[in-house]
Amino acid sequence: MPFKPHGKHLIAGEWIAGSDTFESSPAHGPSHHYSVGTVDLVDRAVQAAEQAFETYSATSREQRAVFLETIADEIDARGADITEIGTQETGLPAGRLEGERGRTVGQLRLFADHIRKGDYLDRRHDAALPDRQPAPRPELVMVQRPIGPVAVFGASNFPLAFSTAGGDTAAALAAGCPVVVKGHSAHPGTGEIVAEAILAAVEKCGMPAGVFSLIQGGDRKVGAALVQHPLIKAVGFTGSLAGGRALFDLCAARPEPIPFFGELGSVNPMFVMPEALQARGEEIGRGWAGSLTMGAGQFCTNPGIALVIDGEAADRFIAAAADGLKQIDAQVMLTDGIAQAFCSGRDQIAQSSAARPVMVTEAEGRSASPALYETTAAEFLENPMLHHEVFGPLGLVVRAASAEEFEAIARGLEGQLTATLHIDEADIEAAQALRPILERKAGRLLVNGFPTGVEVSDTMVHGGPYPASTNFGATSVGTLSIRRFLRPVCYQNMPEALLPEDARG
Ligand code: NAP
Repeated sequence: MPFKPHGKHLIAGEWIAGSDTFESSPAHGPSHHYSVGTVDLVDRAVQAAEQAFETYSATSREQRAVFLETIADEIDARGADITEIGTQETGLPAGRLEGERGRTVGQLRLFADHIRKGDYLDRRHDAALPDRQPAPRPELVMVQRPIGPVAVFGASNFPLAFSTAGGDTAAALAAGCPVVVKGHSAHPGTGEIVAEAILAAVEKCGMPAGVFSLIQGGDRKVGAALVQHPLIKAVGFTGSLAGGRALFDLCAARPEPIPFFGELGSVNPMFVMPEALQARGEEIGRGWAGSLTMGAGQFCTNPGIALVIDGEAADRFIAAAADGLKQIDAQVMLTDGIAQAFCSGRDQIAQSSAARPVMVTEAEGRSASPALYETTAAEFLENPMLHHEVFGPLGLVVRAASAEEFEAIARGLEGQLTATLHIDEADIEAAQALRPILERKAGRLLVNGFPTGVEVSDTMVHGGPYPASTNFGATSVGTLSIRRFLRPVCYQNMPEALLPEDARG
């Protein structure tokens, strides 16, 4: 039997229907009705999460690792149904959904391995020095401890890997924190079936029911109530700058402010250095066109801006990129709102006297087709509007007169998730001047590649200075992301029997 959503919230092990419903708006296939989230349900879910915290945070790392692996198995067991409803809701192709499911279960299993190893605890020990003069030193042990219930906002552009059982949820559960997810209304059915998989794992592993809840959206009050709930201790979010900033401000204004780990997007500039441009400009241009249009350009790591030194090689680069973009058909976007936002972002650039169209194709309704504009470094520096992300398949080429202009642009950039250098051997010296500037701007610096496609690993940093993220000390991808949901506790002169197991020597 194919999966048919019932449209309820999952609150601490119970499926609960609300009185109001909203209708999903799939890219294709049937729509369904889903219960609208309420402030009361938020309170119920968070109270249950707090209650679960005592037992869940006391589980062993091995128990939590098995729990994460069981969630992964349960998601895989529902793979075909997840792909079916996921493709209907988001318009993303089946291959993309299957790949994203692989990444989702892969990161759950990666966190299982990570917590088994225990390095993330960063356990430190200062032995007692009773005879030290002028004062003795007590025995000190420091270890990272889970913080309490965590709120997670599902992302529209990653219905699996950044949503219900995505990276934020996996990191929080691995750390020992219960999770309350606010589902994204762009894919409520995908959220429901993944929540079903998590519930099955909760039951199989004997975890407390409040360890996981999913509240569907449909009302802006849900997100606001969640981040303001006094028992929520941190928030993981991926989405727009406006939405993320509004929720960040609510977190900061609470009587007890809490960290808001928002990943808000970026234009991911790509500097094509002169020798590389001369030798491989066309190849880089074609590669850029592919990266820029992957998933209809709906990636936070989409390289929206390419910088080149003006001249004949720049012309060849632009022609090759335009040629590559012309081969790409219109693609359906994740939501009507995102398609409209793309059109208005593109129109703003089109109406600016600072940018000129290279190639613009039109698409209807919820679809988007590629667009390419160009400007000069001087115009770019004078027009902050050109620095903003247009979420979708739009590229802007900036023609610079000199390496100094590259540096001026790099210095003026806002915080970015990534910055890319395309270089050949003879570009290294010029790149040495840019690297320290870009390092202060971005969470990840790449050479001779494209930033779409984020490796989930121990070294990955998916974050960066504001507005790429609201917390430059953190990453939302990779094992380091667990640190967002931990805090260091120091135990002074505490007998071994009283220490938490992870703090014992
Ligand atoms: P969004 O509008 O920021 O929404 C993300 C989540 O936050 C949703 O659950 C939304 O609830 C909630 N939310 C937003 N503003 C809120 C507020 N003021 N109070 C309470 N809750 C709030 O992002 P989106 O829906 O994914 O897409 C819209 C735009 O975001 C896109 O056009 C794109 O520009 C950008 N985006 C960026 C990235 C990225 O990776 N950087 C990813 C996706 C989207 P509701 O569902 O109730 O609105």
